[in-house]
Formats: sequence, C-alpha cells, structure tokens
Amino acid sequence: MNDVRDVIIIGGGPAGYAAALYTARANLRPLVIEGFNWGGQLMITSDVENYPGYADGILGPAMMADFRRQAERFGAEFVTDDVTRVDFAERPFRVYIGDEEHRADAVIVATGASARQIGLPSEQVLQGRGVSYCATCDGAFFRDKTVVVVGGGDSAMEEATFLSRFANKVVIVHRRTEFRASPIMVDRARGNEKIEFVLNAVVEEVLGEAEGHVTGVRIQDTATGETHVLDADGVFVAIGHDPTTALFLDWLDHDEQGYLVTEAGSTRTNITGVFAAGDVQDHTYRQAVTAAGSGTMAALDAQRFLEEQQHLPEVAATSA
Ligand code: NAP
Repeated sequence: MNDVRDVIIIGGGPAGYAAALYTARANLRPLVIEGFNWGGQLMITSDVENYPGYADGILGPAMMADFRRQAERFGAEFVTDDVTRVDFAERPFRVYIGDEEHRADAVIVATGASARQIGLPSEQVLQGRGVSYCATCDGAFFRDKTVVVVGGGDSAMEEATFLSRFANKVVIVHRRTEFRASPIMVDRARGNEKIEFVLNAVVEEVLGEAEGHVTGVRIQDTATGETHVLDADGVFVAIGHDPTTALFLDWLDHDEQGYLVTEAGSTRTNITGVFAAGDVQDHTYRQAVTAAGSGTMAALDAQRFLEEQQHLPEVAATSA
C-alpha cells in the first residue's frame, strides 16, 4: 500500500476513537487499526453510569459502538485487525498487519491496557454479571451487598476501601499472608470494620453460572488445600493491569511495567510524530472519559505536528 496517510491510530477503545473523531474532523483522514477485539476494556463492562452525557447509563459495548460510529461519520476508516509490527525508524512511519504495510506521517498509539484476569472459565462467563475489574466503575451497583476483592496489592486495598462505602461487607481474598500493598493501605483496610481478610487463599471458581449472576466464590486454602464457599454478590479482581505495549517497547520510552512514557502535559513520546494516549500511558486514572480526553489531546498534538511539518524542513524522526 503506497498511500501515505496523515495519521494512523492504533487501538479501538475510547482513546483511539476520540483521536479518530478529532483527526477526522480536522480532515486528516485517519486510518484506525482498531484491533480484532475492538472496543477494549469497555467490552467486558455492562452498565456504564459515569460517562458524562449518558444520563441514563449505557452498556459498555453500545458506548463503544457509538464512539466508533461518531468517528466514522466524519470519515475515519477502520481496519478490524491487529497490528503485528511497527517501524518508527523514519517518517513516514510504517505499521504492519502481517505483510500488509500502512504508512503515515503521524501515529497515535492507543492500544490500552487490560486488567489481569484470574483465568477461570467461570470468571469469564460472569464478567459484567458480578465479576468486575473496576470498583470506581461498578462499585455503586453493590449497595448493601457482599463483595469479594481478589489481590494483595495497593489496588486491592484501595478498591476494598472504596467498595466499603457501598457494600455491607467486603472480603479481601489474597493468596499469601504478606502484602505487596504499602503498609498504610493495608492498615487502612484492616481498620475498616466492613472489610475482612481471607489470606493464603485463592479463588477456585466463581459461582452463579446457572443463576446468570455471581452468587459466591469457592476458595481454596493454599496451605491445607481445603475449599469452602463464600457467598457474595460481586467479585472485584484487582490483581494488576498490563499495558498492551509489546509492539512498541523497542521504539518508545516506557516505564518498568511497560507503560509508555509521554512528555508531561502532552501525548508526545520520545519519537517526534508518535503520540500515545489512554491507558497505554496512564496507570493512574484508567477511566473511559480520561482515556477519551487523552485521545483528544493526541489528535490535537498530531494535528499541530502535521501543520508544523508543512512549514518546516524534514527532521530526523528520533529527536524528541
Ligand atoms: P500489584 O502491586 O502488582 O499487585 C497485584 C496483587 O495481585 C499482588 O498481591 C499479587 O499477589 C496478586 N495477584 C497477581 N496475580 C494473581 C493471581 N493470578 N491470583 C491471585 N492473586 C494474584 O498490582 P496493583 O495492586 O494493581 O498495583 C499496581 C501499581 O499501582 C503498584 O505500583 C501500586 O503501588 C500502584 N497503585 C498505587 C495506588 C495508590 O497508591 N493509591 C493504588 C493502586 C495502585 P502476590 O503479592 O502474591 O504476587
């Protein structure tokens, strides 16, 4: 494919689609390589009640379809496939899907992150039906209920403390007796009368497949091998996130967890003309609305960059 685009957007979540909308409306003819499983983390969410503008709430997949349609309306083009390789050595940048080459003067990386899953079939079946990966998003659905939080890091402590505002009882299930979480976060959770700890325990199965919603978990004691059932209405899995950055690690600056590093206050990466937006560069906020905001920033940064290119002589791609 010889056509050199103004901009290629890699990723089809809130950040990618917001970037697509803005670049499309700026006549930059964006090509969105949205991934085979487009939609991102919102596709395993049920009701979204905290996206401003959806006053009555909306299902995560429906919201992503809305985002996509809005970008399409202004001329964004989509490829529903996964990028397999990038070459950012020089402009135009090259983005590959297998042998198929796409080139663009600017690239926006918006491949997101994914919450780590325990890896149980029952967990998969009950996603969005009581199994959640985001207390901020779903906590309010568990008013006066019992919830289990899986994990022993800062996220698990933070989510449990947050959930205690709604739930009657929060049970933290952690596979060891030592915590990865900072002592202050553990102490805060321990001091909360709604929070209980079950240590040296792993969730073996999420219960409720027949009922169509979570009814409890079967947990196994890692020391004795004994199992028992804990009744619960929700399970919050808080065992970490992984940014989807494997394709970019050889090119773009990243932290030790693999999150891409952007210049403060912008979406610029270390490669001029390559921008990063959304959860791929944000492990703090991780909300659809912040990702969309960041995608918008990337679109404006890319637009500004492309405008400058028309007036400036070609410069080496790697100068930040
Ligand atoms: P994390 O620190 O990597 O902790 C993950 C926890 O999940 C660990 O306790 C781990 O157990 C457990 N775990 C991992 N895989 C598991 C599995 N398959 N089954 C059961 N348990 C499993 O992740 P995080 O808590 O999301 O924190 C990520 C980073 O964000 C950290 O640097 C953290 O400090 C930071 N953070 C900070 C704040 C804050 O300061 N307010 C809030 C949230 C996050 P093991 O310990 O046995 O490995």
